[in-house]
Amino acid sequence: MECYSKLIVDLDGVVWRGGAPIMDNVEPLSSLLAGGAKIVFLTNNSTRTRERYAEILSRLLGAPVRPEDVVTSGYSASEWLRKSRGCARVLVVGEHGLVSELSRACHKPLTPPDWRDADAVVVGLDRGVCYRGLAAAHRAILGGALFIATNTDRNFPVEEGTEPGAGAIVALLRESTGREPDFDAGKPGGWILELALEKLGGGPALVVGDRVDTDMEMARRHGLPGLLVLTGVTRSPPRGSWFRVVRSLSEAVVDGGRICLGPQ
Ligand SMILES: [Mg+2]
Repeated sequence: MECYSKLIVDLDGVVWRGGAPIMDNVEPLSSLLAGGAKIVFLTNNSTRTRERYAEILSRLLGAPVRPEDVVTSGYSASEWLRKSRGCARVLVVGEHGLVSELSRACHKPLTPPDWRDADAVVVGLDRGVCYRGLAAAHRAILGGALFIATNTDRNFPVEEGTEPGAGAIVALLRESTGREPDFDAGKPGGWILELALEKLGGGPALVVGDRVDTDMEMARRHGLPGLLVLTGVTRSPPRGSWFRVVRSLSEAVVDGGRICLGPQ
């Protein structure tokens, strides 16, 4: 049996689906935290701030989760931009969580009419996306602004199926401008994983997620163990995969602060 006391845990499709908690995963995660496991929550969803996720997770899991225990693709994009280019003027296609992470990192969000001033266009999930904002982003990208995707997930799980993800909005701008994003800040990329591993004080950490193309792919690329749960986007176990598959975390053994997996 293999046991892990450090975990990198995805949110959408693992902790909740839309607004509904997935109790078969939430309860084992609560026990792990109570037992002293180190968990970093890693999400491609940029719509909320790390503070907000930490509040929601603390309440749901009945254990303190700090903003430092959460990495979002919005935070990842903000940090990458700050470290590689310094403080920038940004045109944002995204929701409050992304705008807030960018501001906190020292970047200056612009309104669409000011697109000419943009050093970078940062694109995340935006459920209120409007044509005017997209047109400004399109012009800024063609004008030479950096094109940064928080992630390229085509869709994300909600209570009833899936909805278009940030990747669908990135694809629209890629198509309209003929330009590929200069940087993808989300899973399965290495940058966002490094941020998570830094917070865990290094690996190895078990990567828990509901997607093969992001969560498991990120683990594979970086030689980390992967555990796919079938509570989100992936509904049936892929054949002949290198990672472990469980219907939910309730199938794993929680031993104090460790999660243990029997032979596949
Ligand atoms: Mg997910």
